[in-house]
Amino acid sequence: MRLPALLLLLLPVWPLRVPAAEEAPVIRVAISRGSPSLNIKTSPRLYVREVSTGQKYMLLENSAYELRPANGGISVAGQQLSSPIELLPGEGERYVRLGKHVYKGSIFILAMKDRTLDVIERLSLEDYLYGVLPAEMSPDWPLEALRAQAVASRTYALKQMNPQQDYDVTDGVEAQVYGGINGINPKIKEAVDSTRGEVLTYRGKLITAFFHSCCGGHTASASSAWGEPVVRPLKGVRDPYCRHSSHYSWEYFVADQDLLRLVQSTGSTALKVRDIRSYRKDGSGRTVTFKVRTDKGSFLLKAADVRRRFGTFDFKSTLITRIRKVRGGYEFYGRGWGHGVGMCQDGAKVMAQRGKNYKRILHFYYPGADIKDYE
Ligand SMILES: [Zn+2]
Repeated sequence: MRLPALLLLLLPVWPLRVPAAEEAPVIRVAISRGSPSLNIKTSPRLYVREVSTGQKYMLLENSAYELRPANGGISVAGQQLSSPIELLPGEGERYVRLGKHVYKGSIFILAMKDRTLDVIERLSLEDYLYGVLPAEMSPDWPLEALRAQAVASRTYALKQMNPQQDYDVTDGVEAQVYGGINGINPKIKEAVDSTRGEVLTYRGKLITAFFHSCCGGHTASASSAWGEPVVRPLKGVRDPYCRHSSHYSWEYFVADQDLLRLVQSTGSTALKVRDIRSYRKDGSGRTVTFKVRTDKGSFLLKAADVRRRFGTFDFKSTLITRIRKVRGGYEFYGRGWGHGVGMCQDGAKVMAQRGKNYKRILHFYYPGADIKDYE
C-alpha cells in the first residue's frame, strides 16, 4: 500500500529547536554595485515596487528592461520612480531571477550619489548561509566540514554587519562568495540548520572568523596578513591535515619584464631586475616583503601586493618556499591557496573524513574560541 503523500510533511526533517525564520537577523548583501545601468530580462513577469509610495508596476514576462539612474531616482521603461525600488516575483513565483542567479530575499535597487545603481538583497542570515555554503565549499563534502563552514561563515557575516552602510557584505571573494539559492541541497540545509545560531567568540566577542582554501601546512596570523588585532584564535596553527590537498604546493613563473613593470609601477626608474628574494617572513613562514635588486638599487615589495598583481588564482599564496632564477624570469614555488588566516577548508575536509566533528575542527583552527548561540 502506498503511503499518503501528506505523511511526508509530518517528518521532522530539521531539528525541532529551530526557531521561526524571522528571528534570525537580516543581512544585506550587495549583489552588484556601481552599475551605470541595469538590464533585466524577465522570464516570468516581475513587479517593481516604489518603496516610498508602495506603488507597484508590472514588468511583462519574457521582456528586456533597462533601468537607469535619473534625477536622484530610477527610470524604468520611461517611468521615473524614486529610489529605492524593490523587485517582487510575479504571481505563483517565489524567487527573483537576475542573470544567472535566483534570489529568495527581497531585492532592492538603489540610486547612488555618483549616478550609478546598487542592487542589494535583504534576507535572513540563515537563508544567506544556504547560499554561501555551496559557493564556499563543495556541497558533497563531509557534513562535519560543512557544519564547521556554516559556523565560521555565520560568525564572519555577523561581524560584518554595519548599519552605517547601505549593505553589510558583498557577494564575492573579498567577503564570502554567495550565489543566491543556486546549489542548495539537503546536506547544505542540514549543515546550516543543525548549527543554527552558533557563532565563534573569544572573551565574549565575535571573532572575525576568516577561512581560506588551503594553508599549505601552517595557518597565518591575522596580524601579519592585514594588521587585524591578534586574538588567540587567529594567531595561526601548524596544520598536518591538508598535506594531500591539490593546492598544497604550486609553482608560478614570473617573466623578467613583468617583474620589472611591477617595480616600475612603484615609481622606480630601474631598467633591469637582477634578483628577487624573500626579505621578511612572518611566524608561519609566509613572506611579508620581497627584496628586489635592480640596476637602480634595491626595493622592498609587499608580498600581498605582488600576489594581487600576478593574480591570486595563479600566485596562490605568500607561503613561498623557493624562488629560482630561470631563463627569462623567476619560478616561484609556494604552498597553500589563499590568505591562510583562520580555518583551512581542505584541512577541515580531511578532519571530517577522519571522524572529527565540527566542534573539534573549529577548536583546532580557532584555538581558544568558544562556540556559542548568538543573542
Ligand atoms: Zn591546511
